[in-house]
Formats: sequence, C-alpha cells, structure tokens
Amino acid sequence: MVERKIAWELLNRDDIEKFVKGYINFIGSAKTEREVIEFLISEAKTYGFIDIDNVEKLKPGDKVYKVFKNKTAIFAVVGSEKINKGLRLIAAHADAPRLDPKIVPLTEDKDSQIALLNMGFYGGIIPYQWVNIPLELRGIVATKEGIKKIKIKNLIITDLLPHLSRKKFEERKASDTVKGEELKVLLANIPSKEKEKKSWKKTVLDILFKEYGIKEEDFISADIEIVPALDPIEVGVDKSMIAAYGQDDRVCVYTAFKALLDTRDEKNTKVLWIVDKEEIGSESNTSAQSEFFKYFVAKLLEKKEAYTELNLRETLINTRAISADVGSVVNPNFKGVIYDLNNAARLGSGLILEKYLNAAGKGGENEAHAEFVAWIRKILDESNVPWQPALLVSKAERIGGGGTISRYMARMGMDVIDMGVGLLGMHSPFEIASKADIYSAYIGYRVFYEAKT
Ligand code: MN
Ligand code: MN
Repeated sequence: MVERKIAWELLNRDDIEKFVKGYINFIGSAKTEREVIEFLISEAKTYGFIDIDNVEKLKPGDKVYKVFKNKTAIFAVVGSEKINKGLRLIAAHADAPRLDPKIVPLTEDKDSQIALLNMGFYGGIIPYQWVNIPLELRGIVATKEGIKKIKIKNLIITDLLPHLSRKKFEERKASDTVKGEELKVLLANIPSKEKEKKSWKKTVLDILFKEYGIKEEDFISADIEIVPALDPIEVGVDKSMIAAYGQDDRVCVYTAFKALLDTRDEKNTKVLWIVDKEEIGSESNTSAQSEFFKYFVAKLLEKKEAYTELNLRETLINTRAISADVGSVVNPNFKGVIYDLNNAARLGSGLILEKYLNAAGKGGENEAHAEFVAWIRKILDESNVPWQPALLVSKAERIGGGGTISRYMARMGMDVIDMGVGLLGMHSPFEIASKADIYSAYIGYRVFYEAKT
C-alpha cells in the first residue's frame, strides 16, 4: 500500500507562510515571460550572479547567468566537481496560456458603437473562462523608433446576458459556449471624428499614440499579451491555498529559483534553465528545443575547464535533471474524469513525481529509468520531503494529457524526471495551488541540487 503523505503534517506552517509571501509577490507581478525573466535577473543580481560573458575564468562558488531574447535564461552555481561529470539541472517554463492580440487587432463595431481588440490564443485555454473577468494588456511594441513598454489595465471581454443566452446554450456544444472569435476585448465607447464620420477605432489610436507613441501598424511587431488582472488570493477559511494566474509553470520557476539561491552544496554545478514557448510545443529559439542550453554549457566548459565537443557531450549525458512542471490533482467537483484514484495526485500531498506522463500507451513521452527514480525517492525521503507518485489519469487517456519538456531534455542524454506542484483549474485565469505543495517543491528541488551522490 502506498501511503499518501499530508504535506501539512510534515512541514512547519511558519516556514511555509514565510516562503509563500515572496511567492505571492512574484506571481502577482510577473505575468509575462519577459516580466518573469526580468524579475529573476534582478533578484539573482542581488545574490551575486553576474553575466557569464563578464567572467574570464570560472571557479567553484561563482554564480553566473545568461539571458537570451529577454524570454529565456540560465542560471548556474559553479561546483568543485568537473563539469563533464554532469550538472544538476532543473528546467521550468516561464510562458503561460493567455490571449494574444492578432497582428492587425484593432477593429470597431458600428452597431454596438464600440472599438475592439481582436484576439487569438496562446496555448490551451478554455474561452468561456476569459469572459467577465478583469483583464490587462502587457508587453512591448517594437516601433521603428524603438521599444515601447505597454501596460493597459481595466479591460474586459463581455458575455451574453442570461435572457438572450438560452438559445446559445441549447444550440452550442459545451466547448463552444464562448467561441474563440467571440473573445473581443472592449477598448472604447467615445467616438472621434474621422473625415466627418464617427470612428471608435480612432479614439483608441489617438490614445495609444498620445500615451505610448504607437501607431496601428506597430502592432505587427509587438509581443503583447492579454492576461487576467487578478491579484493572487489566499483561498479557504484555513488560507491553505493560493489562487493566481500563471502558476503553470511559474510556481515551479519560483520554487526552483529559490532552491538554487539558497543551496549550500559546493560539489555539483547546479543549473536552472527557464524556457519559453512550452505551452505551444517548445518551438522557436527560446524554447527547450533550442540550442541555447548547449551554448551555455559550452561557455561553462570553456571558462572553467576546456571546451571540446566530447566534453560537451559527456556533460549532457552525465547530467541529472528535473523537468519542473505542474501536475493535475483530484478535483472534488469533477472526480468523474478520473478512473484510477490510486494513480492520481492530491492537493496538499507534496511534490508530484511522474515517472512518465501517461499519454496513450506512454506514447511520445519520456519515461524516467527505474534506477533514477529510485535515487530521487531516496534523496527526497532522507530529507523528509513530502512527495507523491502520480500519473495524469483520465478515462480517455488523451484528454488533457499534455506533454512537458522532459522529452527534449532526455534527447540530450541526461536522466530526467517530471516533478512539480499540483494545480486545480490548470490553464484557467485563476489556478489553485496548496501552500504546502509550493513549499514542498522548494525543499525538494533544494535536496536535489544538494544531494552528494
Ligand atoms: Mn506547464
Ligand atoms: Mn501548461
């Protein structure tokens, strides 16, 4: 019988609350991948991390980082062991599902007398969850004159009133309750005059130009996102949970980052890799499939020992890694979607350890080797870290069976396992995590970084 632990019983509440304070500040402020990277770099600098390109020769104890395209970054604490004996690597993704404006997004609807922003998606969202909640636009617009940071608060997508929605509910499939093309953000209701005609779009353009110096065609070269304008809240009468946007996967980003900052071991070279584009299949040069990681390892080798092709390959193949990504837990309102409770994770039972991700017949995913899983169990148990074994189990196994970046890490030769925090309502504007699980992740990742064997 596999006994499921209760993280709340194994951990100290004061320690949990102290840790979670910083997390709430992070998750409430860093809402785009650029903002996550900016937050981490500025905090890392206060801990003595410096750009690896500003270091001539690396020695044990040195702390270095490298940012690429402002969307991905790698942090490393150099150990005394030779690099090609392998790294201790944790990787997590900074991007989160959201709405992205189209490249020609501004429209107006004369019948309703409203200017609108036309939206597309980024990653797996359920459109009905994004109506009637406060939203904000964040990101950068790259104009021919330079980069403009943009932040527009107080936006919303409106839904239909109940009096008129009966027909909608009767005729539509549940997945179409709100259709993608109905996610238009309200922008303006005061008309401006354009060639003697009323224009609501012109009102928006006038304000954008006045406040940011942005013209309509500048949206073609923008990285802007519509994200929930919801501050994190402590959930429950016991305040045991946190609801916030973007916890997939920023809860693992933050806990792994803190683990790296606080780690004390000096033997292993410890690395944290923050990737982008996980939610859309890990393509592009900032993703887990990009060359950036190998480039960084080559730099580590060059500046500590010697870079050779063989040294690089040995480093990769000797590396032990965690793909730190969130998992799903038993949802009390929708237990029917799970057929095997023995293999499902629970909120409050600690870090979720997934040997494989349980897509149809294990298809297309990485599976951690038994020996490596045993080592992980051993180091976690020796330090009393609350953890639980789980798979993503659903009746139709492919429902929601999303992949992680572990397969791309495994391709480089390293041993890798998926290990992260459980969430309720994953990919919704308000994802829920247990404070005890968040703290379990922090101590678990730290144990992994520090384990001598
Ligand atoms: Mn994820
Ligand atoms: Mn996800």
